[in-house]
Amino acid sequence: MLSNSLIELDRAHLIHPVMSYRGHEKAGVRVLKSGSGARVIDYSGHQLIDGFAGLWCVNAGYGQESIVEAAANQLRELPYATGYFGLGSEPAIRLASELADRAPGDLNHVYFTLGGSDAIDSTVRFIRYYYHAKGTPKKDQFISLEQGYHGSSTVGAGLTALPAFHAGFGAPFDWQHKIPSHYSYRNPVGPDPQAIIAESTAALRAKVTELGADRVAAFYVEPIQGSGGVLVPPAGWMKAMRDLCTELDILFVADEVITAFGRTGPLFACSDEGIVPDFITTAKGLTSGYVPMGAVFMSDNVYNTIADGAGASAVGHGYTYSAHPVSAAVGLEVLRLYEGGLLENGRKAGAHLMAGLRGLSDHPLVGEVRGRGMLAAIELVTDKERKTPLPVAADPSRRIFDRAWDNGLVVRAFGNGVLGYAPPLCCTEDDIEAIIDRTRMTLDQTL
Ligand code: PLP
Repeated sequence: MLSNSLIELDRAHLIHPVMSYRGHEKAGVRVLKSGSGARVIDYSGHQLIDGFAGLWCVNAGYGQESIVEAAANQLRELPYATGYFGLGSEPAIRLASELADRAPGDLNHVYFTLGGSDAIDSTVRFIRYYYHAKGTPKKDQFISLEQGYHGSSTVGAGLTALPAFHAGFGAPFDWQHKIPSHYSYRNPVGPDPQAIIAESTAALRAKVTELGADRVAAFYVEPIQGSGGVLVPPAGWMKAMRDLCTELDILFVADEVITAFGRTGPLFACSDEGIVPDFITTAKGLTSGYVPMGAVFMSDNVYNTIADGAGASAVGHGYTYSAHPVSAAVGLEVLRLYEGGLLENGRKAGAHLMAGLRGLSDHPLVGEVRGRGMLAAIELVTDKERKTPLPVAADPSRRIFDRAWDNGLVVRAFGNGVLGYAPPLCCTEDDIEAIIDRTRMTLDQTL
């Protein structure tokens, strides 16, 4: 059992991310103790399936001994090495090279960060540097999508469009702009893929015209919008947006912090889309959440422009923990596991998960089931015809989370009545069946 004193210490001292602080003081927290595969256990001995892989990150599942070994060996051998002053470490060099080999197209240059938010921040800095180096410094306006999430750092939060990340934080930067999401379930143009693609390309064109083509630096997009509610664009949408950015001379940044490393099937979701962005940002599955790390992938063109622009001068961007050797050693082992069977298992389990969740479509509360691979969501409504969102006030989604928890399932309950799924890629058939059964049970109890 978790002792009461630990809960009191938590209430008094630990600030939790993205929570009501007063709510936390009242409710306390649920504390997980251990995990194995896709299963976790809390301090009361309650066993659960982690249908969300922590925070869409523990792609390899819990208790993977070889990852633990890789970290321990590196900690013993060399726990830290800086990349400053022309120094480096073997795992970081090898991981950069292995990743560049697998990244789409000419994304041959890798910059390691500590997570997703600083990966996004790094792209903003690199993009500004790039345009200065090109002699077009006026290109300093950034565009992203409504419902988008790009982290919560000072700059990344401005590209994020979720209201909770803005309320109370003052005015957003005036150089960050939004266009509507594709969100097909609630798109005013209806669900027709071609109409949605036409709408999004027109919106981007209009925004660029409004700001001035010579002012717009980059467009940021998640291949599937995660925190906005797992919003999957129609087939061809990413390609259409990428092509438009090329036409308009805007850099295209694919934020794959959630979608990379097998979450949707391949190592990079952009590979499925047949596109090569100018940047890809990743984190989470890069180390399967075992240790913190993110990575920015940069194209040859951007890299060479920055490198030539800087000449003999240092490009002044870096963190003490950039390319941390322990994280890199973990990243190498995780990559080996992905290619040694986890991606394959994830593809099979993902098909099973999607089929199982689609089987819940007949439930009176289920408005839409959507997703790809091991990334899925159910949008809950009280009236399917009218698509009336499940009223959060009458039945706070937090209670759905609590019910699911009691039923032995960790699921993400978004405030807008969306249940999100991102289970570990190592899920067995039994794990997936349990996720589906426990979801149905939870929905029945919510009726
Ligand atoms: N970008 C996307 C698409 C994300 O989903 C997240 C986190 O969920 C981030 C960026 C920020 O990553 P981090 O939480 O590691 O800073």
